Amino acid sequence: MLKMRHTASLLIPAVVAVTLVATGVRAADEKRRDEAPTGKSIVKKVATNRNASEGFYNASEGYLKRGPRDERTLVLTFDDGPNPESANRLLDILRELDIKATFFVVGRRVSAHPEIVQRMIDEGHEVANHTQDHQRLFNLPTEKVIEEIKDCEENVRKATGRGMAFLRPPGMHFTPQVLADTKAQGYITVGVNCVAGDYVANGGLAELTSAEATELGLQPHQIADRIEKQFKPGAIILLHDNPVSIEAVADIVARARTQGYHFVTTAELMASLPEPVTIVANPVEREEEKGKKK
Ligand SMILES: [Zn+2]
Repeated sequence: MLKMRHTASLLIPAVVAVTLVATGVRAADEKRRDEAPTGKSIVKKVATNRNASEGFYNASEGYLKRGPRDERTLVLTFDDGPNPESANRLLDILRELDIKATFFVVGRRVSAHPEIVQRMIDEGHEVANHTQDHQRLFNLPTEKVIEEIKDCEENVRKATGRGMAFLRPPGMHFTPQVLADTKAQGYITVGVNCVAGDYVANGGLAELTSAEATELGLQPHQIADRIEKQFKPGAIILLHDNPVSIEAVADIVARARTQGYHFVTTAELMASLPEPVTIVANPVEREEEKGKKK
């Protein structure tokens, strides 16, 4: 028996994440029949439901929920980087697999490792906003939400000279107000409907022994198993940039390709929606716009 007292705190986030998403997906499935572009009223009723709005993309909220169901496309997204212990190896793996991903980066990590973020851009990946300090935005006042968004944005601009079009709120916890604040800053909120359940706070995942990781279901093959069960056309897959999860990537990609899926970026997914939306994920011109406001 492993040290449960030690691992219990690590287990909770992964289990909570899986449970939340399972609930959200089920709720979304139940509501799908009344799908309408009027997701706003639904969002107001369930303030922090991650799948609150319906449809693929709700333009009035600036919220991308998933891709079209009639194409076997998947998007790989990696949150919480750049992690110096895994990001460069992850970029090597993605290059080898010929896949472009979307990285939701944390501003303070960007300022610590700007060269990794530049490499993401150089190699054709999308860099997206995951706030400056990875704070849960739903219980912050609007001024603080905006500060969290802008500070991350500033760090990415310093690192790469690029702006960002996409944002994912930490923990996918948000309210209608957070969605509105995010949209007002020029961002599209990107949801998730395929999760690895690989989130462990403070880099704890890399510190687990192999036996502990197995018991918690956090070995790379276990992560790949969970993801594979959630493959569906238009799925947006969430993994975290950490040394364990990245070892599941090649396996996930191989299993997906065997099933006829191919990988696209978030911008490519939006361009393939029933009502296509053209987005430049990391525009150069945004830099000047933002420069004027500062
Ligand atoms: Zn995160």
